Amino acid sequence: MKRKLHVYGNWKLHNKIRESEELAKAVKEGSVKYKNKVNIGVAPVYTSLINVRNILGDNSTVKLLAQNGYPKPKGAFTGEVSFPLLKDAGCRGVIIGHSERRHLFNESNELISEKVESALQTGLDVTLCLGETLEQRENGETWQVIEKQLTSSMFHVPPTYREKLVIAYEPVWAIGTGKTATPEQAQEVHAQIRNKLEKSWLKDTSEKIAILYGGSVKPKNAKSLFEQPDIDGALVGGASLDPESFLKIIDIASHL
Ligand code: PEP
Repeated sequence: MKRKLHVYGNWKLHNKIRESEELAKAVKEGSVKYKNKVNIGVAPVYTSLINVRNILGDNSTVKLLAQNGYPKPKGAFTGEVSFPLLKDAGCRGVIIGHSERRHLFNESNELISEKVESALQTGLDVTLCLGETLEQRENGETWQVIEKQLTSSMFHVPPTYREKLVIAYEPVWAIGTGKTATPEQAQEVHAQIRNKLEKSWLKDTSEKIAILYGGSVKPKNAKSLFEQPDIDGALVGGASLDPESFLKIIDIASHL
């Protein structure tokens, strides 16, 4: 029996408020039948968060997530949004360390670690993204990179917060490129992550932490990925902008 799968949608820098509301309505309506079967979440752009929250309502089956956040609670940090403010806007979780943050905005493992700590202390669930570039994979450095990202960003997390973590393994070369890791390639890394969690923490804790795959997940490849023993769902970018595709992926997750 598999863990209850997660399907999270990352809307990235897309959608005006009205478009986000429409997408949220469609996802909310289509998700009703998956209540208690799949953990569902959506991460709209900041300007749509409150509107999407109002569409989803309190304790909705669809969890509101932010795409990023800043580790200091308040102060002279022009242009940033802190985790307490995201919570105040209705977010229940946040994505941290997405590869676009790491590579386009030069976020370091140290900054990501601070963000993880601050978000968890605020009471938000954290989806921590990890992944290697194509060059690192071709150089045989995949596990080295992932292990470094893992150890520097999350192993300081105290036991009470550990189960509020979700990990998303997202090979950089598979994000938004239409190239997906094969189920075997993804499973290999997921198993290594699970093993590391088990060694560093406890088997019991490692079993409870969901490890999602991200990188061009679509309705056509979701099943073969979700069938892998250590793949606990998906972080979906492009396909989450189309409610039909996103709901199809959720439906596939509900049957495993
Ligand atoms: C993502 O944004 O995390 C992602 C995996 O994007 P895509 O599904 O478009 O590759």
